[in-house]
Amino acid sequence: MPNAFWCVVEDDRAGRPKKVMAEVLGEATRLGGPAEAVWFTDKATDEGLKQLGEWGASKVWLLENAAFAPYRSGVWVGAAAALVEQQSPRAIFAPVTSRQREFMARLAARLGVGLAADSVAFSKDGDRLVATRPVYAGKLLSKVTWAKSPWVATLRPNVFRPADAQPGRAAQVERPSVKIPDAAMKFVERREEVSTGLPELTEAEIVLSGGRGMKGPENYVILEQMGAVIGAAVGASRAAVDAGWRPHRFQIGQTGRTISPKLYMGFGVSGAIQHLAGMRTSKVIVAVNKDPEAPIFKIADYGIVADLFEVVPELTKEFKRLLDK
Ligand SMILES: Cc1cc2nc3c(=O)[nH]c(=O)nc-3n(C[C@H](O)[C@H](O)[C@H](O)COP(=O)(O)OP(=O)(O)OC[C@H]3O[C@@H](n4cnc5c(N)ncnc54)[C@H](O)[C@@H]3O)c2cc1C
Repeated sequence: MPNAFWCVVEDDRAGRPKKVMAEVLGEATRLGGPAEAVWFTDKATDEGLKQLGEWGASKVWLLENAAFAPYRSGVWVGAAAALVEQQSPRAIFAPVTSRQREFMARLAARLGVGLAADSVAFSKDGDRLVATRPVYAGKLLSKVTWAKSPWVATLRPNVFRPADAQPGRAAQVERPSVKIPDAAMKFVERREEVSTGLPELTEAEIVLSGGRGMKGPENYVILEQMGAVIGAAVGASRAAVDAGWRPHRFQIGQTGRTISPKLYMGFGVSGAIQHLAGMRTSKVIVAVNKDPEAPIFKIADYGIVADLFEVVPELTKEFKRLLDK
């Protein structure tokens, strides 16, 4: 429908939208909608389509084709731009994830419109949409608006209130015909990452972050054990990643992932500005550091000046007791 708020679906690569889509659809609906999902996938599931409807999508533009997986920006952008031309949405939203970051920037460039990346709030100014987004590594918030539509924006996860699921509410599913561009890149090999069994960093409600103070890769197991008890993801500072202790996908900060969990706990992390850029919007921040002068204590809600190798086992034991595990 013309003037709709489109929400590009981030999925689990197995046919189900990720829960961050409840936040994106919820915000699109609050801004006046109608909220419509646009889903590039090689395999949608009925369960996934149902979920999008229950989160508020009035329509799902289902672009289901083997060419859409694995993700290649040129293929998605070409198909999306053709659909935008046919349907004239007012806004196009997507959650901040690695591929949506790239896709949305390229789509905005193709459409010749602005992109509000990493938005943390929206408001209306008459007929215009105004986005609030962090700048200078999160030290300032800037408000931006668009010279023309569609208004393209990525939304930071865990910031916007998720839509209340409306059981039984169904979205109309539309399978548009658009020309799918040839891929400029050839698919060579897919390697599945071994799952840690813990929640994903950007989606987790609790994140445990280990810095240089962890002293070595072998010690992250104590954070993983605590994570398993309280359902937390385990991330790292760049110092730990640069040392080869954790893969880059676990890095939190300006040149890593941006997270906004309900609870962030930093262990042996000093709190450099570039690390704060990726986690300062966490709702509650706990820091464990043996240096009382560590900068992270300036933004922490709770601080423990102690050796993390004493604190982590104690906390894990206490969480187990409290949670009866
Ligand atoms: C362009 C640029 C981009 C960057 N991007 C990022 C980014 O995305 N993410 C990021 O994290 N950094 C980034 N950095 C690096 C950043 O400046 C810091 O160097 C880095 O965050 C430091 O990591 P750290 O806190 O783990 O290490 P350190 O600063 O070395 O801090 C280690 C802390 O551990 C404490 N400690 C040591 N042993 C213990 C113990 N047993 N118990 C408790 N505490 C202990 C120490 O007191 C210290 O405070 C970037 C830098 C640049 C220049």
